Amino acid sequence: MHELGTDTAPRRAEPSQRFGRRRGILATAMAGISTALSGTHVALADDGSVSPDAGTAPPGDLPATAASTAVVGSVDPGAMVRVSRPEMPTGPRRVGIQAGHWRMADIPDELRRLAGQTGTSAGGVAEWQVNLDIANRVASLLRDDGIAIDVIPATVPEGYLADVFLSLHADGDLSGTRRGFKAAHGTRRGPYEPQLVRAIVEEYGRVTGLPSNGEVSRNMTGYYAFGWSRLRSSVAPHTPAAILEMGYLTHPDDRAVLTGQAERVAGGIARGIRRFLEEVPAGVAFAEDLLVPPAPAWGRRPAW
Ligand SMILES: [Zn+2]
Repeated sequence: MHELGTDTAPRRAEPSQRFGRRRGILATAMAGISTALSGTHVALADDGSVSPDAGTAPPGDLPATAASTAVVGSVDPGAMVRVSRPEMPTGPRRVGIQAGHWRMADIPDELRRLAGQTGTSAGGVAEWQVNLDIANRVASLLRDDGIAIDVIPATVPEGYLADVFLSLHADGDLSGTRRGFKAAHGTRRGPYEPQLVRAIVEEYGRVTGLPSNGEVSRNMTGYYAFGWSRLRSSVAPHTPAAILEMGYLTHPDDRAVLTGQAERVAGGIARGIRRFLEEVPAGVAFAEDLLVPPAPAWGRRPAW
């Protein structure tokens, strides 16, 4: 229901093309999808996230060619959508760091529902300022490694293609008692995002000493920048993408780290990104077509 039309919709593969080629890569992609789908019946909300509480998704089995290595819950494989691989990027490896809520005044009409979401604030600091400060520091660290960096505002360049896209945010909580960081990726995207999240979470936690907070929310998995099939302001489906909530700006201990030890915070993020870039060599994430579940036509609206 939020599709923008054929300009952003991937072409559907002919049945004979769906599972015939590149079986290993397909199995990898399917395994990633199956990880996200638990239970016999699942439904896909219209932001592409998975909800276990509706039984309207049609049951189905994979064709024999892929069934030995992939189990895909109840998504009908006949409805899977093939996303053609992009033109292979040239030049240095590229990383986009989004400073969450930065330049909200410039967002396009399609993101108007975000307009009131200017982020949290505490201790005289606005979230976007913290996000931008850390983003610039991460950019500086990675540029020293010869990586091309884009510091990206709230509006994402259409179909943004890079080796990594990481959106930086900080949490807020009225009680002031919650703390910790968390990271997540979207759905209906490439197979390397769990690996990106793992690298970020492990390195960030180790370097900053901040506690991990497992309360990943629908706002994170359904983050608009992941919604390539319904929004122009989004990253390409092949771009390994994640969102990091760096900590609670409203908790004094977290805030002390985010604002008082910003270089350390940036160092943790840079380490996570470097590790992922080493684990997934240049070009690998763009080398194959993706196979993703269809854009859901039912369910709740995104909870941005
Ligand atoms: Zn935020």
